[in-house]
Amino acid sequence: MFYVPDGTTRCGYYECKSCGNRFLDIKIGPVLVCPYCGEEPDMEIGPDEEMPQISEDAKLVKMLEGEEEIEKYDQLLSLAVTGGDYNWI
Ligand SMILES: [Zn+2]
Repeated sequence: MFYVPDGTTRCGYYECKSCGNRFLDIKIGPVLVCPYCGEEPDMEIGPDEEMPQISEDAKLVKMLEGEEEIEKYDQLLSLAVTGGDYNWI
């Protein structure tokens, strides 16, 4: 598994509207902070600094259930990341 741990039986398939990346995440939610272009909040920010903008740009496209289905998407997305053909959608 590339995106989620082995043995995951339920995860979300997300697409980021900012950078277009697609990924799987074990966290389930209608939107997530994109792991590619989003930033987690920085808790050590000083009082004079501007608050970082947290944008949850990755939208849930589909819930995936069952190890087989997750593994299939995981492999296809991994191929896309490594330059494979991803016209499968
Ligand atoms: Zn993104």
